[in-house]
Amino acid sequence: MLYRTIGKTGISAGVIGLGGGYLDDKPYAEVEGIIGAALDQGINLLDVFMPGKAVRNHIGRAIRGKRDKVLIQGHIGSTDIHEQNDVSRDLETCKKYFESLLVDLNTDYIDFGMFFFVDTPKDFSDVFESGLLTYAQDLKKKGIIRAIGASCHNSVTARRIVETGVVDLIMFSVNPAFDMTPAESDIYELLDEVKLKQNFKLQIEPTRAALYRLCEQREVGITVMKTLCAGKLLSKDLTPFSRPMTIAQCIHYALTRPGVVSTLIGCKSPQEVLEAVGYLDKTEAERDYSTIIENYQGDFRGNCMYCNHCLPCPSFIDVAAVTKFLDIAALNQKRIPPTVVQHYQALDKHGSDCISCGNCEKRCPFSVPVIQNMKRAVDFFGQ
Ligand code: SF4
Ligand code: SF4
Repeated sequence: MLYRTIGKTGISAGVIGLGGGYLDDKPYAEVEGIIGAALDQGINLLDVFMPGKAVRNHIGRAIRGKRDKVLIQGHIGSTDIHEQNDVSRDLETCKKYFESLLVDLNTDYIDFGMFFFVDTPKDFSDVFESGLLTYAQDLKKKGIIRAIGASCHNSVTARRIVETGVVDLIMFSVNPAFDMTPAESDIYELLDEVKLKQNFKLQIEPTRAALYRLCEQREVGITVMKTLCAGKLLSKDLTPFSRPMTIAQCIHYALTRPGVVSTLIGCKSPQEVLEAVGYLDKTEAERDYSTIIENYQGDFRGNCMYCNHCLPCPSFIDVAAVTKFLDIAALNQKRIPPTVVQHYQALDKHGSDCISCGNCEKRCPFSVPVIQNMKRAVDFFGQ
């Protein structure tokens, strides 16, 4: 497993994590099998948004004696009062469900306290301008949660969440199909195959691309949900693209967005855990997603998708990495975050190593002016 640090928390999560949704309604033996397979593969991040007592108890039992091996995303506001997965903003209700999560999992702390499903302006004010925020901050002060986060599917709201400066991480839906839908699309529309195709545009949505860069700049980690677009991207009939993607391509797409730490994959069996983790053994060519999305750029043409389809570089420059740090630095040229500078400096090769051979520009499917970008990187970072 590869691990990445979640923002400023200093906590490292595997680049592949386990989404908990498919653990619902499963007998204990199956939950144990899936979680056991995940832990064996080095997966350490587990999302538990489910409000049901049975599934929480099963998870608690499956991680007994291994609590220190698991990072848990627990959600504040996920309830089953009216429906299976209901959202509440009532402080007492949220407290009751969150406190019962601790009991059900048989633990005295939750790693990440996530405000649940903060998508609309009303969701935002109900959470960040209410006693719920104070509640989460108190939990953090007491060490009951280690960090505060929020789950969100809307890039405009997500930006507001990040700009509060309160959260260490967001759980956000990231996949190339969602990245080509309008910023304020409703998640339920995107999960309907007909509506997904209707909402689908021929270009990357700029506010989503900007959100990822902002997260990297502000050191807010992104844990990814809907990595596979609920499986639609794997299906030739359901994908909005001209052909299906592989699991590895979907995971790689998410992991190459700025700010992304981990992709949470919902697995129905130990076999599906192994298929997800199989990403780690794939070659760069097998992970390469650029050819799937190269025809869908619109006026985003010229912007780097961080795919590294342009390699190999005779100077061994990681073009995607250099360009990613350049794009983040360009967000605020007067105040480039020191961590971005450090990460850039830690690269083996830099923009200054570019010999302007032009090989990458010939290979780039997105017409990115790489040579110019390498020169800009030198201007920003001095090397
Ligand atoms: S320059 Fe082009 S090929 Fe290279 S990483 Fe960026 S988008 Fe991909
Ligand atoms: S132009 Fe620069 S970055 Fe591109 S392949 Fe040549 S040396 Fe590498």
